[in-house]
Amino acid sequence: MERVFSGAQPTGNLHLGNYLGAIRNWVTLQKDFECIFCVVDLHAITVWQEPNELRSNIRELAASMIASGIDPEKHVLFNQSQVSAHAELAWIFNCVARIGWLNRMTQFKEKAGKNRENASLGLYAYPSLMAADILAYKATHVPVGEDQKQHLELTRDIAIKFNNDFGVEFFPQPDPLILGPATRVMSLRDGSKKMSKSDASDMSRINMTDDADTLAKKIRKAKTDPEPLPSEAAGLEGRPEAKNLITIYAALTDANVADVLAEHGGTQFSGFKQALTDVVVEKLAPITEEMARLKADNTYIDAILAKGAERANAIAQPILKEVKEIVGFLNS
Ligand code: ATP
Ligand code: MG
Repeated sequence: MERVFSGAQPTGNLHLGNYLGAIRNWVTLQKDFECIFCVVDLHAITVWQEPNELRSNIRELAASMIASGIDPEKHVLFNQSQVSAHAELAWIFNCVARIGWLNRMTQFKEKAGKNRENASLGLYAYPSLMAADILAYKATHVPVGEDQKQHLELTRDIAIKFNNDFGVEFFPQPDPLILGPATRVMSLRDGSKKMSKSDASDMSRINMTDDADTLAKKIRKAKTDPEPLPSEAAGLEGRPEAKNLITIYAALTDANVADVLAEHGGTQFSGFKQALTDVVVEKLAPITEEMARLKADNTYIDAILAKGAERANAIAQPILKEVKEIVGFLNS
C-alpha cells in the first residue's frame, strides 16, 4: 500500500481553516493509504515557542487529530522529536542540499521578514528537515497545500541528488496529493485574509476549542455587507465576507455553494448567521468535547504518542541504517 506522510506544527490556536483545509482531509486518506501523522515540534521551534505552551500545544494538536477521526491504532500518530531519525537524516540532507536551493525558498523569505540575519538557522534549514520527515519513511505521497509545494519540490531534488551522488536507487520521489478543491477559510474580520493561527484578533478565528456561546458571538459579529444573500454563485463576486460564510456552510454540510444559495438566497445575513452557527456548533461540538475529554488526562495522549513513536521508529530506523551504510558511516 502506498504511504502518506502528513505533518502539522503544534503552534496553538487551531482553527476551522486547519480543520477544513487539512485535518479533515487527512481523516479521509486513511481509507486508501498507510498514513503517518506527525506533530512536527522540531519545525515549530524554528521560531520561538514558550516551553510550557509548546508542551500543551503538542498534546492539543494530537487530541484534535484523534477527536477529528484519525485512528492511532490503524495508522501511526506521533511526535517528531521522539523519533531521532528525523534530526539525524536532516543533518545528512543538510550536506546534500545546496545553499542556492534553500535561497530560493519563499516561505523563509516571508517568515524571516526584513531582519533575515536574525532568523534562526533552523528556519533556513526547515525544508531539509521536511525532506527528512518524508524520506525517513520512504513516503510516496504527501498532502500539501499551495504553501508547501515548493518544499516538496526540494524534497524531490534532495532524493534525486542523494541517489545520484551515491549511485543508488534508494529514495523515492514523493508526489504531492491534491485533495480536490481545497477549502480556504478566510478571516471573519477581513474576507481577503485567510483565517490564521497567528492573527492577533481571536474574533477573526473559529477556534477548535471555542464553546457554543463563543462560536455564536464570533459568527454574529463576523463582518458582512448589508445586502441579502444572492441566489447564484455569480452574485458573490466582490463580496469576500459573504462568500466566506457561505463557503464554510457548504464545506461543513458537504454541499456545494450553489445548493446553499438555492436554499438561503434572498434572505438576510442575520438569519443565515443563525443557521451557520447551528451548523458550526453541530459539527465542532463533538470534536471540541472529545478534545477536552482527551486532554483532561495527559497520560492518555502521552501514551498514544509514545506508542506511535515506537512504531514510527520501527519503520524509520532500518531505512536510516541503510542510509548510514550508503554514506559510509560505521554501523553499530
Ligand atoms: P500560521 O499563521 O502560523 O502560518 P496557519 O493558520 O496558517 O498558521 P499552519 O500550521 O501553517 O496554520 O497550517 C496547518 C495546516 O492548515 C496546513 O495544511 C495549512 O495549509 C492549513 N490551513 C491553514 N490555514 C488555513 C485556512 N485558512 N484555510 C484552509 N486551510 C488552512
Ligand atoms: Mg501557515
